[in-house]
Amino acid sequence: MKLQNKTMLITYADSLGNNLNDLSEVMEQHFKGAIGGIHILPIFPSTGDRGFSPTRYDKIDPKFGTWKDFEKLGEKYYLMLDFMINHISKHSKYYQDFQKNGENSKYKDLFLDWNKFWPKGRPTKADIDQIYKRKDKAPYQEITFADGSKSKLWNTFGDEQIDLDVRTKVTQEFIKDSVRTLAKHKASLIRLDAFAYAVKKLDTNDFFVEPEIWELLDQVKNDLKGTDAKILPEIHEHYTMPMKVAKHGYYIYDFALPMVLLYSLYSGKSDRLAAWLRKCPMKQFTTLDTHDGIGVVDAKDVLTDDELEYTTNELYKVGANVSRKYSSAEYHNLDIYQINTTYYSALGNDDKKYFLARLLQVFAPGIPQIYYVGLLAGKNDLKLLEETKEGRNINRHYYSKEEIAKEVKRPVVQSLINLLRFRNEEAAFDLDGSIEVETPSENEIVIIRMNREKTHKVTANINLKNLNYSINANGKKINFNIKKELTV
Ligand code: BGC
Repeated sequence: MKLQNKTMLITYADSLGNNLNDLSEVMEQHFKGAIGGIHILPIFPSTGDRGFSPTRYDKIDPKFGTWKDFEKLGEKYYLMLDFMINHISKHSKYYQDFQKNGENSKYKDLFLDWNKFWPKGRPTKADIDQIYKRKDKAPYQEITFADGSKSKLWNTFGDEQIDLDVRTKVTQEFIKDSVRTLAKHKASLIRLDAFAYAVKKLDTNDFFVEPEIWELLDQVKNDLKGTDAKILPEIHEHYTMPMKVAKHGYYIYDFALPMVLLYSLYSGKSDRLAAWLRKCPMKQFTTLDTHDGIGVVDAKDVLTDDELEYTTNELYKVGANVSRKYSSAEYHNLDIYQINTTYYSALGNDDKKYFLARLLQVFAPGIPQIYYVGLLAGKNDLKLLEETKEGRNINRHYYSKEEIAKEVKRPVVQSLINLLRFRNEEAAFDLDGSIEVETPSENEIVIIRMNREKTHKVTANINLKNLNYSINANGKKINFNIKKELTV
């Protein structure tokens, strides 16, 4: 199914039940009408980072199901898959062949040789300092070839994730083959994971390198010519970077909204939120939560440094079991600018505040994305976190079908499902339509959305301090709130 202006769920294939068939069943049984698309986090055979270290793209890991199961889901939902444009697994046949055959391997140019990259006498300390890094050491890994010789390869993320050299012909063919495989199996969106790291260039910080990054995006867009698939480049950085990507005509993520909304709901103030909603484009996917932490740097200059610090501090005070150490190296934090928590726990497990956050997300420009833990208003999972010592696992609870059947009965989840159904059906949320945002007082925000033809109009009037709100759709007052636990 092609991309639609309907809420997208983000989930692993084994988080709502055990596999794609369970996922399909759960969606049918509990979330009909609330979800229009699904971002299924990496489903390929992988050797680390919960799927983000794939060995290949032509096969689905059998523990999740088959391409047939995937395509079946695609008849009911538009689907997004990840393509890791920056790296591939050390256990892929490509890397293994390179390790065995060295310079004689047909895949030798797939990887970026660290020593060949730098001119003689470099990198200097200043060179290394300049690189935009995800770890506190130079981003390379030593490779020992079958004949005992050694070299170094560029390696931005975890040990299993070896960087690709996107400039070479062999890599460009690999990219084309891979994204076309995903499109062939009816993925209507392809998320370009960590794409801003993909281009490395001498005397730059090797992040979001222009103009090469545009050439790379255009190349992938061309590779997909003749298919229905679109690309969604993923970048966690200063909001001006995704805005540039939007100006080039691509869909983007709004990763600033999570912090901006937390700030607004902690402080009760509406001005920053209003300014942000007026600024961001319609052709975007809004997020409050994902499988990663909440991005702090993404909201820089949308909030002042003081406001960002206030929000972060408040998050550790008000949030339920949100601890600084869960976002530290002790818990394998890969990104120092992200805070690990579920969104529900970030708001102190407070049903009313959480519903308001989702209501504001629904009224924001763009297509809303909701992470599966968020869909079930899930609390921080300290058990999984401690068992694995992986910070991001605080927000990666595995739900069994029985647990889901229980969780969906909660009033907050039912209210959320109603809200999402409304979002998917109401024509006023037209992406070619308009948005108006007003702040009648320091604590209030009024958001009006209208479709292009101006025949449909919805208004949300929210007081961020006392949490009172009203919603009006085409002249009628609406109430989504379910107060009592469902009994069926
Ligand atoms: C993904 C992370 C992943 C990283 C490396 C990111 O941006 O969202 O989950 O660890 O890319 O693939």
